[in-house]
Amino acid sequence: MPMVFDSYEISNGHTVKTDLCIIGGGMVGIAIARALAQSGFGVVLLESGGRDYEGPSQALYQGKGELSGEAAASRDISNYLVTSRFRQLGGSGNKWGGKCGIPDEEVFEDRSWIPNSGWPISRSSLMPFYDQACDVLGINKFDYDPAEMRDPKRPSLSLNGSGITTSTRHMTAVTGRSPQKTEFEDYIRGVTDDPSIDLYLHANVVDMAMNEAGSAVSSVKVATLRDNSFIVRAKQFVLATGGIENARLLLHANQRQPEGLGNQHGMVGRYFSGHMTTGNNSLLYFTNLAQSLSLYTGRNRKFPWGVLKTTKMAQAKHRLPNATLTLSANGVSPREDDEPVLKSAYLADGRLGRPDLSGFKLKGNVVSAYLMSEEAPNAESRIVLSEDRDSLGVRRVQLDWKFTSGDLDAIMASADLFAREMGALGLGRMKPILNRNLLLFNAGPSSHHVGTTRMHPDPKRGVVDTDCRVHGVGNLYIAGSSVFPSAGIVNPTLTIIALGLKLSGHLRNRL
Ligand SMILES: Cc1cc2nc3c(=O)[nH]c(=O)nc-3n(C[C@H](O)[C@H](O)[C@H](O)COP(=O)(O)OP(=O)(O)OC[C@H]3O[C@@H](n4cnc5c(N)ncnc54)[C@H](O)[C@@H]3O)c2cc1C
Repeated sequence: MPMVFDSYEISNGHTVKTDLCIIGGGMVGIAIARALAQSGFGVVLLESGGRDYEGPSQALYQGKGELSGEAAASRDISNYLVTSRFRQLGGSGNKWGGKCGIPDEEVFEDRSWIPNSGWPISRSSLMPFYDQACDVLGINKFDYDPAEMRDPKRPSLSLNGSGITTSTRHMTAVTGRSPQKTEFEDYIRGVTDDPSIDLYLHANVVDMAMNEAGSAVSSVKVATLRDNSFIVRAKQFVLATGGIENARLLLHANQRQPEGLGNQHGMVGRYFSGHMTTGNNSLLYFTNLAQSLSLYTGRNRKFPWGVLKTTKMAQAKHRLPNATLTLSANGVSPREDDEPVLKSAYLADGRLGRPDLSGFKLKGNVVSAYLMSEEAPNAESRIVLSEDRDSLGVRRVQLDWKFTSGDLDAIMASADLFAREMGALGLGRMKPILNRNLLLFNAGPSSHHVGTTRMHPDPKRGVVDTDCRVHGVGNLYIAGSSVFPSAGIVNPTLTIIALGLKLSGHLRNRL
């Protein structure tokens, strides 16, 4: 019998006992529960939302957000806290784009020109888990040669060997918003239909209690929006509430440690970064390309997408972080007259002004493009708690997302690098129409939330160890992009799932 409980029906003060308690039934919480189903020990999955979107649950995500750069005024992005994540079973997976990729090797390495970069685990040690994550998400593994995606009339665009730019492989996976919704529903059914998993809906974890010695979590308090609450006791806990909420709950759970759980060195909430997207049409790529743009090997994707990146060598030479250029043919086929595309580019945001296209010959295909750039890990870019509380009494998030001048310089320099190199390679010409001073106002913050409980073996420099266990708390683990120490530029979910599956193996051994 599948065990799905509606927490509204659990009696006040009830205690649930289990071996493993997973907090958050989003993409990774579900992956971990599925991996440990039928293992012979008790698994409880606590999910704040219901099966469908519900406004009052989503409102618990409200908070204050500000985006600022050293050289620019700040921008209120409070809305970002409720538009970049979704509080319901399946989490943000209900809305995600399904783009998956594996970050390049350099992201895991210490890049001397980016302070605090690198991971304490290698990419190669994660590779088996990436393969498993591909299976979980229903995509081909990354050694797959997508011959059927190729346009037989045009060879694939290959920049490898130029030493300057290269392609990065992506695939698209199941998502709650796509025509493959049924596959996403299957993903969720892995927890709703498995009798070995006890799933609680409308179960908001609002506090965590420690044992006498202060060395482990003994229980969590669950509250609902209808005023009943209960306790869950477990041997092991996994916090999987998303890249922002993981930090929020640690900071809020301060009964024993006034600065917050696992926050003895003030590291929780720090090093927040996302991926800044310059916005569609902020760069226009004009090409006579005979090659195909189908570098983005999509499932059922009609339009070819190309995702290009600067090589490790080019990054080192120009002291730049990871950056990608996404060329989206999104229906823009060769045009005789390129003017409409340009118009839509600068009309999209009047503040961009008309791009200076003098000396720029318009011919060939026009492809809109956008740039995504990695921010250098920055301790001052962070989440703290405000004095405001949500309707369950949990202090709300205040996101202070800071860009340094270096981050802004890097965006401009990466755009120039792409433009120069593509011109030099004779692949076409690119016109960056970015305005450095308006970058933070025009750019779109991606829905990727990285870094707030970063992994580092030294408790003074990170929140979790290499097993994703919170330093100083024997039985509390974190799953999600909050543990990434360096963001890289690839969409995070495949890595989140790979780390979650690695953690599942560790928990299986411990339990
Ligand atoms: C519009 C959009 C497009 C995206 N596109 C992509 C993409 O193409 N590729 C990619 O890799 N990523 C993409 N992402 C990001 C992706 O969705 C996330 O990386 C992924 O969902 C993170 O998984 P998670 O399990 O860590 O968090 P989530 O999926 O957000 O799940 C967290 C879960 O925790 C629950 N929860 C929160 N607080 C509590 C609490 N106190 N108690 C109990 N439960 C709680 C939530 O309800 C939720 O179900 C996109 C996101 C959005 C919004």
